[in-house]
Amino acid sequence: MPPPAATVLHADLDAFFASVEQRDDPHLRGRPVVVGGGVVLAASYEARAYGVRSAMGGRRARALCPGLLVAEPRWSAYVEASRAVFDLFRDAVPVVEALSIDEAFLDARGLERIAGTPVQIAARLRRDVRERVGLPLSVGVARTKSLAKVASAAAKPDGLLVVEPDAEEAFLHPLDVGALWGVGPITRRKLAALGIGTVGDLAARPEEELVAALGRAPGRHVHALAHRRDPRPVRGGRRRRSVGAQCALPRGTRAGPDLDTRLAALVDRVTRRLRRAGRAGRTVVLRLRFDDYTRAARSRTLPEPTAGTADVLAAARALLREATPLIDHRGLTLVGLTVTNLDAAAGQLTLPLDGGPDRAALEAALDGVRDRYGTAAVTRGTLVGTGPAQPWLQPGEELER
Ligand SMILES: [Mg+2]
Repeated sequence: MPPPAATVLHADLDAFFASVEQRDDPHLRGRPVVVGGGVVLAASYEARAYGVRSAMGGRRARALCPGLLVAEPRWSAYVEASRAVFDLFRDAVPVVEALSIDEAFLDARGLERIAGTPVQIAARLRRDVRERVGLPLSVGVARTKSLAKVASAAAKPDGLLVVEPDAEEAFLHPLDVGALWGVGPITRRKLAALGIGTVGDLAARPEEELVAALGRAPGRHVHALAHRRDPRPVRGGRRRRSVGAQCALPRGTRAGPDLDTRLAALVDRVTRRLRRAGRAGRTVVLRLRFDDYTRAARSRTLPEPTAGTADVLAAARALLREATPLIDHRGLTLVGLTVTNLDAAAGQLTLPLDGGPDRAALEAALDGVRDRYGTAAVTRGTLVGTGPAQPWLQPGEELER
């Protein structure tokens, strides 16, 4: 067993809805902004400086911050931004566990040769999200999911915080117990009644005392978190049915070397994601949007599933050639490429891997087991040796709920 290392990333967009509004309206930048006039759905950091918080009533928020600017929610813009950010997450690592529309755990183990150390991956992700989607992302890097989640909160706004294994106690113990993942206001109040304010206070108490005060499952849970025990693995979501990417173009784009370069970049991005996920697909789809907002799609199905750049590029170029008269007639504003018809038994394929038969092959094999026997089959194996089953909460659950 290698020594434990900080390989779990928790990536969380800062003040997500408010940041999208500030990104899209220069008038809102650097100013106190909330999304939602009745109830505050999100508050920019400038508004938070006045004590404005999400879930607060709009009247109270305006009283706290007289110059407050209110934006109406634009859900489609948030969904689109979230999709673009999650695409970058999946470009960065093979296993991404979504927690909500704006946060996820990423497993950065074993990617040194293809993508760098967990800290390098985290730094690149922050830069990519800023440059390509225009939003601030904070990332915590630590040995467990709970520690990574606490670290990203401490990193905000727009920060990166790494908690190395030998620094965990020094990082965690001075924090308020409310910083722990799953400890909400009710649990915090019960702990305060026992004279427990910080995580250090909590760690000093025997488990039986916490079980007596909070109940069996929550008592054991907070005791384990205070002692930095959390064996929950990062779990990838549902298997994707397709992998795609798209690229907006200047109006009136015609066929030619520039368009070919863009197409090649899309192919490169899509096939790299396929290979990282240990997947291969048979159908290549080219999507086009024209100056007059009409759309067209062309597809080609290959004899064998592939994740190879050359195979997919050849098919994509053939599709582009077929569509050239249409493109030159109408002018192009967007080109997209999707590989679909993904093979369900990727574990049995030999893929041309970039970095040798390592992480991607392992992932493909694990996915194959999950498909056949369900997620629990794999999870059980990784939990062996951690003692009696812990009543771990599911992502997003609070102890008191
Ligand atoms: Mg967030």
